[in-house]
Amino acid sequence: MITCNFCRVTHRYIPDDLVKLCGDITLDRVLTRFKCEGCGKKHYLRMELHFPNGSEYGHLKVRRLTEIRTVTIPIWADDVLH
Ligand SMILES: [Zn+2]
Repeated sequence: MITCNFCRVTHRYIPDDLVKLCGDITLDRVLTRFKCEGCGKKHYLRMELHFPNGSEYGHLKVRRLTEIRTVTIPIWADDVLH
């Protein structure tokens, strides 16, 4: 689960989704791929592992990955006509 200590918002993610998004990297580095949707900041985020207990199955809210979008960013450089 990832918590923003600034907004006090926690989202729970499924490890499989994180692997899909980030590849097989360590959890600390997964966090660098996230920023808070509330405040847009990264450095308030904390990640904790949560091992669900039996009663949480079917109840605990999680955030699932539905789509990975790749954004195309143009890079411009000034030059002279030649
Ligand atoms: Zn936040």
